[in-house]
Amino acid sequence: MTKIKPQPGIMEIDLYVGGAAHVEGVSDVVKLSSNENPYGPSPEASSAARRASYELHRYPSTDHAQLRAAIGEIHDVDPDNVICGVGSDEVLQFIAQSYAGPGDEVIYTEHGFSMYPILAHACGATPVKVAEQNRVVDIDAILAACTDKTRIVFIANPANPTGTMIDLDACAQLAKGLPAGALLVLDGAYAEFEAGYDGGVSLVERSENVIMTRTFSKIYGLGGLRIGWGYAPRTIIDVLNRVRQPFNLSTVQLAAAEAALRDTSFTEKCRSDNERLRRWLATALEDLGVASDPSHTNFILARFADQDEADACDAYLKTQGLIVRKVAGYGLPNCLRITIGDESSCRRVAHAIGQFKRGET
Ligand code: PMP
Repeated sequence: MTKIKPQPGIMEIDLYVGGAAHVEGVSDVVKLSSNENPYGPSPEASSAARRASYELHRYPSTDHAQLRAAIGEIHDVDPDNVICGVGSDEVLQFIAQSYAGPGDEVIYTEHGFSMYPILAHACGATPVKVAEQNRVVDIDAILAACTDKTRIVFIANPANPTGTMIDLDACAQLAKGLPAGALLVLDGAYAEFEAGYDGGVSLVERSENVIMTRTFSKIYGLGGLRIGWGYAPRTIIDVLNRVRQPFNLSTVQLAAAEAALRDTSFTEKCRSDNERLRRWLATALEDLGVASDPSHTNFILARFADQDEADACDAYLKTQGLIVRKVAGYGLPNCLRITIGDESSCRRVAHAIGQFKRGET
């Protein structure tokens, strides 16, 4: 028996399972399982990444001043209250690492994003799962679950994999009701898909205990580059910067993210196309007897009669070259999460689900 043991909590972590990109023996595969942007990034972002790659011998900026200034301009936030990370995952990690440890509790919700319990375990804290109401975050249940050990409450708003969201007044009520010393993290990975929603910026600005996180992986189509950011009161940003590695973002990441942000017409096209195709797909599925909650994201959570039907549909879609996401691990065994692709992918997936429902497989 080895005497070399990991820290408490580490072996409690269930490994994160990512989505496959290929189906054995099937060509013309469309991946609709990771909520990626079907159009890819803005061409401006790709050009900026290429240009930045001519300077690979140079260390990147340590303070990300230029990217934070661009975030400040585009999102109307104070750049001094922004921190950037390797995906929003890294920003979430800074938060867990800085504010929770052994003996502390970290709250997340029934169908919440799988990284939250992973991050809690990784810092030795105890993840506490709280029930949702019909796949919607329930703030009363969260407040009832808080104890004097609660340090962090993680909520994705809009949420993954349900696609539902709660309004900012409810978030404000939650922040106000938390015990002293507990932080509310509003994960806004999908915030840009909801027109007129600021992701929680205004709540951060009038609270001491709220942090918002955002990503370049979804609407900006830069999941492969790994860039995210957080917005919080200055005292919190100061803490998070102490655990951040000085060169956590590369020159290429910084350049691409800034260019992506500044191409606002591309972002708006992605948002409006997503909204139109999401409405179309939800209606097409409803006509086939497959229900979904109103989604505020770039995916739909399709509900089937039971797990057998969901699994059988998933298997059929694969034979048709369509990869969607099973979400049994999120407590949703009868559901499949389907990313909104481009128009032809949406038509293909609706057509294949129609064939499946009619038994034409
Ligand atoms: N939060 C939520 C709710 C997500 O769905 C994801 C990505 N699946 C992330 C955070 C992490 O995104 P990234 O690290 O790519 O920014």
